[in-house]
Amino acid sequence: MTAIKVGIIGAGSAAFSLRLVSDLCKTKGLSGSLVSLMDIDKDRLNAVHMLAKKFAEEFGADLRFETTTNVEDAIKDSSFVVNTALVGGHSYFEQVRKISEKYGYYRGIDSQEFNMVSDYYTISNFNQLKFMHDVAKAIERISPKAWLLQAANPVFELTNLITRTVPINMVGICHGHHGVDHIIEKLGLDSEKVEWQVAGVNHGIWLTKFMYEGKDAYPLIDELLEKEVENFKPTNPFDDQLSPVAKDMYEFYGKMPIGDTVRNGSWKYHYNLETKKKWFGEPWGGVDSELGWKWYQDRQAEIAIAMQKVAKYFQENKNAKLLSKDSLNEIISQTKNDVKEELTKEIYNLLDPQRKSGEQHILLANALLNNEKVDLVLNLPNNGTIPGIPDDVAVEIPVYADKDGIHRYKIDPPLPERIKKMYLYPRIMRMEWALEAFLTGDKKVLEEFLIRDPRTKSYDQVVKVLDEILALPGNEEMRKHYSK
Ligand code: NAD
Repeated sequence: MTAIKVGIIGAGSAAFSLRLVSDLCKTKGLSGSLVSLMDIDKDRLNAVHMLAKKFAEEFGADLRFETTTNVEDAIKDSSFVVNTALVGGHSYFEQVRKISEKYGYYRGIDSQEFNMVSDYYTISNFNQLKFMHDVAKAIERISPKAWLLQAANPVFELTNLITRTVPINMVGICHGHHGVDHIIEKLGLDSEKVEWQVAGVNHGIWLTKFMYEGKDAYPLIDELLEKEVENFKPTNPFDDQLSPVAKDMYEFYGKMPIGDTVRNGSWKYHYNLETKKKWFGEPWGGVDSELGWKWYQDRQAEIAIAMQKVAKYFQENKNAKLLSKDSLNEIISQTKNDVKEELTKEIYNLLDPQRKSGEQHILLANALLNNEKVDLVLNLPNNGTIPGIPDDVAVEIPVYADKDGIHRYKIDPPLPERIKKMYLYPRIMRMEWALEAFLTGDKKVLEEFLIRDPRTKSYDQVVKVLDEILALPGNEEMRKHYSK
């Protein structure tokens, strides 16, 4: 058993923090550990703290918690630091999007070819990049042996930035590969008998191998896709793994795009709402349309309020046991029905001793410290894993972890050349531009992103949109950085 300290930065993101806490509760090997919850929002922090304590109590888990608003406190003596903060919050993204749209950039200047995810900003996100970089440097200074597990986006850019410039143990972690589970479930296969691999870069991964009982099972996906895309009707805006866009990308690139990759196709699927609806289905046109994103934001707001209510209940009823489904429903009775259902399901899944949350952070910690070997999909420098991609570019690949560290599986069969030439290389170049801009402070590099953007009609448009974004309150440091 190894008692450690785990720091969670941006811990006010309640749903995410509780997933980590519930995994810790179920991991005997990490019993006795201390979780340092860090956030700048005290209300969110206190709510998460209250809920985390209740979870641990319910499990009878030997875990301790502390709260702090100071990053360095969370890092000090930590073996693992999970960073899930979002500097400026979602409201910053909306301000940038609004300005961008005024100048003709539908869904914002940060929606770029192969990067259409609505909270994955790489051009106007200086404060987020700077904060994450500073946290990595603080780890090097204060807890040089700690692992940084980067959960906040943009994971691809941040993994590259940090692994190239700060000598610490670091991986980028995303749960996008669970798109494979959706396919397995839809096919009604026994997941124990499925062997699969994904490879690519974060939010750009492809199902390179899909075998069932030792045989190639891609033909099953072909059949399923044919059936699913006929009269495709998504159940929610995220329901796109078996959508017309996934099928079209599969046909062009030769392998199935997995998880967020489906959201990250070329402009062909994203010109405007009408185009998005055609490919991602009615009524939302996928989660990254104005309608889909509103659905998601409204839902997140509902979940945050409901979480606060549950936390308040425990604050006022110190001796209350964790709730029955009925009383939980009563406390969050004002919450919309479908959100209530989802939240109740999530909480009870997290309380199920047989289930893990699906996040990989605690599994990785346990494997490294207690030698419990585990298969994961992580972001780390390529170092020859995908031929043709530079060694220092972070790739998202299948690995296993144990006490000796993280070991890569061979990607077999390899990624098709088409995927590399038509998707990965152009996406990698955009990551390089984002880092070039951030590391040099040269505004001309930011401009260049937009000069090469099909929505740009004049250089004047580029200068104006960037100047207005740089003039936003909160962007003082960014403005200074890009005026060198
Ligand atoms: P959110 O705004 O709900 O939560 C972020 C938290 O960060 C808030 O509690 C906020 O108070 C806190 N925060 C802001 N500035 C901070 C600072 N300087 N120091 C400490 N905490 C600070 O955002 P969210 O929707 O939970 O998303 C968080 C991040 O996680 C985003 O980058 C999102 O894209 C990413 N994300 C990653 C994955 C993945 O699998 N890797 C999945 C979903 C979301």
